[in-house]
Amino acid sequence: MITIEEALSIVMDNTRRLDPCFLDITEAYGRVIAEDIYATEDVPPFNNSAMDGFAIRFADTLGASTVSPVTLEILEDLPAGKAKLTEVGKGQSIRIMTGACMPKGADAVVMLEDVEEKEGSILVSGPISEKENVREAGEDVRQGELVIPRDTVLGPAEIGLLASLGFSRIKTFAAPVVAIISTGNELVEVGDTLTPGKIRNSNSYSLNALVLKYGGIPYRLGIAADQEEVIRGKIEEALRADLILTSGGVSVGDYDYVKMVAEKMGAKSHFWGVAMKPGKPLTFATIKGKPFFGLPGNPVAVMVSFEQFVRPAMLKMMGKQVLPLPEVEAELQEEIRKKPGRTHFIRGLLTKGESGKYMVSTTGPQGSNILKSMVLANCLIVVSKEKTFLSKGESVKVQLLKEQSL
Ligand code: AMP
Ligand code: MG
Repeated sequence: MITIEEALSIVMDNTRRLDPCFLDITEAYGRVIAEDIYATEDVPPFNNSAMDGFAIRFADTLGASTVSPVTLEILEDLPAGKAKLTEVGKGQSIRIMTGACMPKGADAVVMLEDVEEKEGSILVSGPISEKENVREAGEDVRQGELVIPRDTVLGPAEIGLLASLGFSRIKTFAAPVVAIISTGNELVEVGDTLTPGKIRNSNSYSLNALVLKYGGIPYRLGIAADQEEVIRGKIEEALRADLILTSGGVSVGDYDYVKMVAEKMGAKSHFWGVAMKPGKPLTFATIKGKPFFGLPGNPVAVMVSFEQFVRPAMLKMMGKQVLPLPEVEAELQEEIRKKPGRTHFIRGLLTKGESGKYMVSTTGPQGSNILKSMVLANCLIVVSKEKTFLSKGESVKVQLLKEQSL
């Protein structure tokens, strides 16, 4: 059995970035851009008012004070979205709204709140500086500037900027289509009635959600019975995807055919068995150049091995930087005993104490079939291979699974 670190490095060595594709910006959230974006124009495209007020010539207000305010004639109204030709001359002003194009002749805006309006004129009772309340063309972005370099992950701000520059379609690295096959004679689909000896297929759905969580495109292929031909048929369909996941059928039981079938189809196995708990029987292969994970069958083992290995593979395929899951050190609230030899991922609930210190407790029974303990957990406590005992109050490493729950 290899270690988690060795397994991860094998997975990374056998995973490639996917080719780029063109996408509408409404679908590009979370993708990695595959081209440099240079500004094709200035943003904002014209000088405009930062306030509701009056566009004026600043020089007119130089001598203004509360005792001798300056009177400026109001020529007309200028709402946002209009660009008028009227020029503001000496002693004149135009009522202007936020975002409206600065009229010719004007070089400052006096705020609505700072003037008194009287018989078609305004009274300005203090000097206004040049360019006051004026947003200049190109203030945000200059034409020709590199605004989004290739390899940037597109978040809401980047997508907003692309829109303001007129890019509606852009080149991004493709997100992997991830095939999901659940194997097992005992499985029935969610909507089906349970008959004796059967359980519902939950792995396809937790995997579907995990694929979405990390920005992939799930391609569910349902249940494969534990028969060579059936599994083979499903894997053949799965080859349309970029990444293949199976669950179940990779242990040492009589009906565990997945690895053997994949190998008969030409898959090259890279490892089978990782020194971790849960998730020990995890298998990794490449088939027609595509990464293939034979995930264990137990619902928690599926999720834990996904987070440790499939997540980084997916990130790499999307062109993302492969960072580990966010980690913190937390004070353990109870004793933990384990056997040596495997790294344990223990479902935990992380909280922040009043002093700001993180504290973590386990979520109860840790059987790899107990999915409820994943529901109750927001993190995994990582206990290294050699450790056999952790005492209450000890500092432990914790991987965050649900950051939003903290
Ligand atoms: P296996 O490795 O195929 O022997 O599966 C290990 C355990 O996981 C068995 O108890 C299975 O019933 C369970 N299991 C396998 N596949 C699924 C699935 N898709 N949904 C829920 N439980 C499953
Ligand atoms: Mg099985």
